[in-house]
Amino acid sequence: MDLVAADRKHLWHPFTQQQDWTEEPPIVIEQADRCELIDSEGRRYIDGVSSLWCNVHGHRHPAIDIAVKDQLDRVAHSTMLGLSHRPAIELAERLVEIAPPGLTRVFYSDSGSTAAEIALKMAFQYWHQQGEQRTRFISLRDAYHGDTIGSVSVGGIDLFHSKYRPLLFDVLHAEPGDAADMERLLASHEGEIAAVIVEPLVQGAAGIIVHPDGYLRAVRELCDRHGVLLICDEVATGFGRTGRMFACEHEDVAPDLMCVAKGITGGYMPLAATLSTERIYEGFLGRHEDFRTFFHGHTYTGNPLACAAAIATLRLFDQEQTLERLREKIELLGELLAPVTQMHGVLEVRRRGFMVGIELDGFPVEARAGHQVTLAARSRGAIVRPLGDVVVLMPPLAITKDELRRLVAITSEAIAEVVAARDERVALAA
Ligand SMILES: *Cc1c(COP(=O)(O)O)cnc(C)c1O
Repeated sequence: MDLVAADRKHLWHPFTQQQDWTEEPPIVIEQADRCELIDSEGRRYIDGVSSLWCNVHGHRHPAIDIAVKDQLDRVAHSTMLGLSHRPAIELAERLVEIAPPGLTRVFYSDSGSTAAEIALKMAFQYWHQQGEQRTRFISLRDAYHGDTIGSVSVGGIDLFHSKYRPLLFDVLHAEPGDAADMERLLASHEGEIAAVIVEPLVQGAAGIIVHPDGYLRAVRELCDRHGVLLICDEVATGFGRTGRMFACEHEDVAPDLMCVAKGITGGYMPLAATLSTERIYEGFLGRHEDFRTFFHGHTYTGNPLACAAAIATLRLFDQEQTLERLREKIELLGELLAPVTQMHGVLEVRRRGFMVGIELDGFPVEARAGHQVTLAARSRGAIVRPLGDVVVLMPPLAITKDELRRLVAITSEAIAEVVAARDERVALAA
């Protein structure tokens, strides 16, 4: 079978201009080995973005492989609607143990978008059932919470949202990192706001925008003062990305609702969860005929194979001391990136823990500079994926120090190549 021809004939890739896609030779991944991906030609690449920010302990980790295979010998799928199963129960107990204090209830779904969607619906319905008309949300400018209509509504990245505006509900946007702006919005909409939703510490899809220290803490206090729920979307930051299990921990913040997905299964399976406090949960209790039920549930919610992968993933954090061992790697990454900050053609390097954004300087949109860096990195043996002109590095937490050195070296060589080619074109044109 000619895979490339069949791909071009039948696939429609996510967040991809298919017209460009069909003009470039695609990479078809066949296998992986720890932190490397292997394509159909046998070429190896460092997985520099953790297969879109979700891999944690490396690919084909024996412990997660075995956990999934064992579960496969029991049952692959059984519904959570009207039934329960062991992996969902065990995982919920474990998630509550590691989550910020007060988050005692776990509602499963399948993606970060649905986890955010569910948090919004829970907040909305909670207030309705409290007899309060709090129907609006505040989110941050340049926020990203997923691609379904509700999660797009609270998003703030114009490129993703302007097209769909007629379909979206109206949201108030606060200036990221500016607590005074949040305070102004809350004060001028007293009694109207159901919840504030934020990506804690780092706005990933915005291009790795790092908030100033103390901002999340300030938002929590403002929400408390105005009686508004706080939703923390830990889909990108959760499971060790920022150096702690959850980003909220850096500022001792406990949200009312917390969304997790991406890293939860170690990058093995689609699974997400929305964690809530007992107070919110109790707001949904009542007699059947009161119709206070939370009317939401996807077919594959809490899939047993995915839960088994997640339980094994969380167990590995203890067994392999993942976060303890990450500390030195975070430090090393900082040292490796210091010279990149000084590079010609680099505007800024932003970072928190293992989330890195290298912003390129002075390229027109049509140059697709970030994409050119991706191609140059690929030919040197690393997979990275940009956000516009921001080159993102988001390696698996399990990456070795040597692989980390190689990844940063390849990335800076790739940037240098793309910047040099641009300078050459500019010189020729002059
Ligand atoms: C990726 C992401 C989402 C969406 O998750 P999907 O699984 O892609 O639907 C939501 N919120 C944040 C902060 C994310 O980074």
